[in-house]
Amino acid sequence: MQFVSYLDADGSEAVGRVEGTRVHRLRGLDRIDATVTPERLRDAEADPAGVDLDGLALLPVVPRPGKVLCVGLNYRSHIDETGRELPTYPVWFPKYASSLIAHGEAITLPPESAQVDYEAELAVVIGRSGRRITRDQAPDHVLGYTVANDVTMRDFQYKTHQWMQGKAWDRSTPLGPVLVTPDEIDPADLDIALRLNGREMQSSHTSLLIFDIPELISVASRFARLEPGDVILTGTPGGVGFRRDPQVFLADGDVVEVEIGGIGVLRNTVRAEVVA
Ligand code: MG
Repeated sequence: MQFVSYLDADGSEAVGRVEGTRVHRLRGLDRIDATVTPERLRDAEADPAGVDLDGLALLPVVPRPGKVLCVGLNYRSHIDETGRELPTYPVWFPKYASSLIAHGEAITLPPESAQVDYEAELAVVIGRSGRRITRDQAPDHVLGYTVANDVTMRDFQYKTHQWMQGKAWDRSTPLGPVLVTPDEIDPADLDIALRLNGREMQSSHTSLLIFDIPELISVASRFARLEPGDVILTGTPGGVGFRRDPQVFLADGDVVEVEIGGIGVLRNTVRAEVVA
């Protein structure tokens, strides 16, 4: 099953089940948050009439996650282009709920950064609370999968050896368009690609993750209780703009598409932020 988070005609948050080109609003479940389990999502009654998906004001699949845990350096092709050592433990960094935007919203270029870059990533949404989750238990803690663009201000990322300021910028990170439940896809067997104005910049496969999803859930849950609605960004493959020759950075008017097989296309335009 596939779900979207959106604003209804009255501006209220809603969750809908996607069937073809129609979205059927769930009753009694208005937001993917810490109260949503796989069973609650699956069993929610859906409005039979539905509305058109096209033109709907989407929200990030999880509008306000408690935690957004991100992993750097998780594809060999990206590690090689950075010239770094193969990690023996996942490289974690945080984003915040305020970092997220929806499919179709503009990625804003802040005037403070001259090096805004893209990163195609598979994202995991947690659906069951847990600490010290084992690899074998990990699949039971997944609500579903979606697509992310880990937009990064490279000049700020490398100001210090802590990445946070380059990664957790307000309203920078697209997440969506849909949440796909685990019964529909094998997250270890998905094509992942990114196109900038139609030109393919990244192309890989999720089987090439160094730390796979059960491992990431297991390792993260050692230091933090994972709760429903928490999001894990699993890392980006090679081809980021910063490591190209010549370098490529996002510019006003660009269109960025991240496509993951079996989930969909996350499309965003890029707009320079006007600061009064
Ligand atoms: Mg990343």
